[in-house]
Amino acid sequence: MVDAAVKTYLPDSLAEALDIRSRVNALPLAGGTDLMVRYRAKNGLEPSLPGPVMFVNHLPELRKIEISDGTLVLGASLPMALLAGDPGEHKAWILKAGGQGHKAAEALAAIPEVLRDAASALGAPALRQRAVLAGNVANASPAGDTVAALYALETEVVLESVSGKRRLPVSRFISGPGKTVLKPDELITAFRIPAEPSRWCYWRKVGTRRANALTKVSLASCALVKKGRVESFTLAYGAVGPTVVLVPAAQAMVEGCGAGRDIDIPAVVEEVRRTLNPIDDQRSTAKYRKQVALNLTTQALESLKEYMQRKQGDTA
Ligand SMILES: Cc1cc2nc3c(=O)[nH]c(=O)nc-3n(C[C@H](O)[C@H](O)[C@H](O)COP(=O)(O)OP(=O)(O)OC[C@H]3O[C@@H](n4cnc5c(N)ncnc54)[C@H](O)[C@@H]3O)c2cc1C
Repeated sequence: MVDAAVKTYLPDSLAEALDIRSRVNALPLAGGTDLMVRYRAKNGLEPSLPGPVMFVNHLPELRKIEISDGTLVLGASLPMALLAGDPGEHKAWILKAGGQGHKAAEALAAIPEVLRDAASALGAPALRQRAVLAGNVANASPAGDTVAALYALETEVVLESVSGKRRLPVSRFISGPGKTVLKPDELITAFRIPAEPSRWCYWRKVGTRRANALTKVSLASCALVKKGRVESFTLAYGAVGPTVVLVPAAQAMVEGCGAGRDIDIPAVVEEVRRTLNPIDDQRSTAKYRKQVALNLTTQALESLKEYMQRKQGDTA
């Protein structure tokens, strides 16, 4: 422990970090890109943090990436630059893995495109070096870019404390804007995503500019197409509700399509129109958000149809 105006903890291991969490109400600090803004005092001054802080970004247990039993396991503290597919980051990661470099390379290659694209759209290059996945998820903003991607990927969040481990779908972990069900003694340690080499993915973020733009609306969508038929399909909208919004009724209209039944794009879009209920705020208007969300839905479904036609062509 280091003594300072704010008490800070720098654990050497996950076990030590969990022990500290069980005894002290110390706020986990990963990249700090949300926390330092949330608790800023005035420009140029140290942030006014509410209590003790525990640094977690350096913990090796939170910086793992591996494929285990058909599941891609992403450590909580993987930086956005790595998830975005930055070649320099990947090379450094593989070198660091030493004799296990081939396994690291395999896991890095399995990062789903939708997550890669979402991480690439987050902030700007310097920020992506600091900001990590758990920070984006625990911040629980409905506009969190990788959050929408993780919803679309039906990701599980792994939570650990001294008394054990539990896993929850990300959609149950986030309980409201800025709210999660993280217990005071827990840390997010990993995210689990089914490793699917042939997943169709779609990601679009609409903001005011290409970098450092917070999201007005986003759509992350994924499908598994087997033997010409959609086996599973997700639509996850960012910044149009209190949390990322999934639209199960619209998803069900697409599942089972192919093999003789075409995707009815206007009907799916109508279902999405009925479900989404965005609000006006400082970033955008409800009307704009809804229209853009519907346009993105059409674009995603057209892209899925093209993908299915291409796949059919490949096997013909
Ligand atoms: C200029 C700027 C631009 C930005 N642009 C975007 C953008 O385009 N898209 C976007 O989605 N976000 C954006 N953000 C927000 C922010 O960068 C992201 O949410 C980022 O992923 C937060 O990660 P972090 O590691 O910095 O989290 P931190 O600030 O360290 O922490 C955020 C929250 O996560 C908690 N936490 C961290 N690790 C753990 C853990 N292991 N277990 C439990 N809780 C944990 C912290 O206690 C805190 O509550 C931007 C921020 C800034 C300052």
